[in-house]
Amino acid sequence: MQYDLAIIGGGPAGVAAGVYAARKRLKTILITKEFGGQSVVSADIQNWIGTVSVSGEELANMLEKHIRTYASDVVDIRAGELVEKISKKPASHQEQDDSFVIKTAHGEEKAKTVLVTTGSERRKLSVSRADTFENKGLTYCASCDGPMFSGKDTIVIGGGNAGFETAAQLLAYAKSVTLLESENEFGADPITVEKVLSNPHMKAVNGTRILEIKGDTFVKSVVYEKGGKKEELPAEGVFVEIGLAPTTSFVKDLIELNKYRQIIIDPRTQKTSVKGLWAAGDCTDTLYHQNNIAAGDAVRALEDIYIYLKA
Ligand SMILES: Cc1cc2nc3c(=O)[nH]c(=O)nc-3n(C[C@H](O)[C@H](O)[C@H](O)COP(=O)(O)OP(=O)(O)OC[C@H]3O[C@@H](n4cnc5c(N)ncnc54)[C@H](O)[C@@H]3O)c2cc1C
Repeated sequence: MQYDLAIIGGGPAGVAAGVYAARKRLKTILITKEFGGQSVVSADIQNWIGTVSVSGEELANMLEKHIRTYASDVVDIRAGELVEKISKKPASHQEQDDSFVIKTAHGEEKAKTVLVTTGSERRKLSVSRADTFENKGLTYCASCDGPMFSGKDTIVIGGGNAGFETAAQLLAYAKSVTLLESENEFGADPITVEKVLSNPHMKAVNGTRILEIKGDTFVKSVVYEKGGKKEELPAEGVFVEIGLAPTTSFVKDLIELNKYRQIIIDPRTQKTSVKGLWAAGDCTDTLYHQNNIAAGDAVRALEDIYIYLKA
């Protein structure tokens, strides 16, 4: 069978598009690794419009419930699946236009149009032995793993807003928090930096270069360099907050990406460089990335896809 539309991703963008596709009765397949997206790890989201406060997990449940309620026989939902590649199939005699082949571990699906909403993933620390200690003291999620380091010395790597927010969370229970930043200035908002640094258990060092994570079964210390001098800082918990990387590797050979591997889109329509393929949310080169923006951008894409299919 050939779908009108394949939506890849089940974060705010993918679900918003799915709900609109159901209302417009576009025969759609929505394939997602999981529902909810990146903010699923947040303890408290206060800016999802219309909702005063919601945890990331609750938001994920709300999104899944919303699409499942209206999916009926219009939107086929395939959760727990990862799209490995999207390619373009040349038009046949029966079909007027090219269609897309979406490959997952479970097989292939065909669709006339595709909307990519696969968001971003945490950028990994690429220094000696960092991967060995992942989930053995080195973690990418303070709200998931932070409480395990109650009363312990911890290190946060990264001095942007996410790094300082992580430090603020850890200060509620850790013995000490030391933040290591590579640049000479912190990227976080000055008001956040000032507030977090006023805590007596907090220290921050800028202009550092991480060299190695040390330990045996679990993390014991971080080795870094500052001003040509090597330092070793003992810690049982290391929290990495060095930014996000767009999840676009499965379309890298098909559409145009920018130098950050974000999908280049036309902001009026969300169209990509390939006819029949749209993208929305954090995987794109739009300037600001938030839940409400991702949902709105996806709705804009869906309106444009509808015109393309029906005009
Ligand atoms: C810790 C944290 C806290 C945040 N807090 C807030 C906040 O308070 N307010 C706010 O507005 N924004 C917040 N954000 C930003 C917000 O989460 C993002 O802007 C938003 O999630 C982007 O939505 P998206 O749908 O574009 O992508 P994502 O949320 O990243 O969703 C991508 C979806 O695609 C799926 N996927 C990925 N790859 C594949 C694949 N190959 N095949 C199938 N499925 C795939 C994923 O499972 C996921 O469902 C936060 C972000 C983080 C990291």
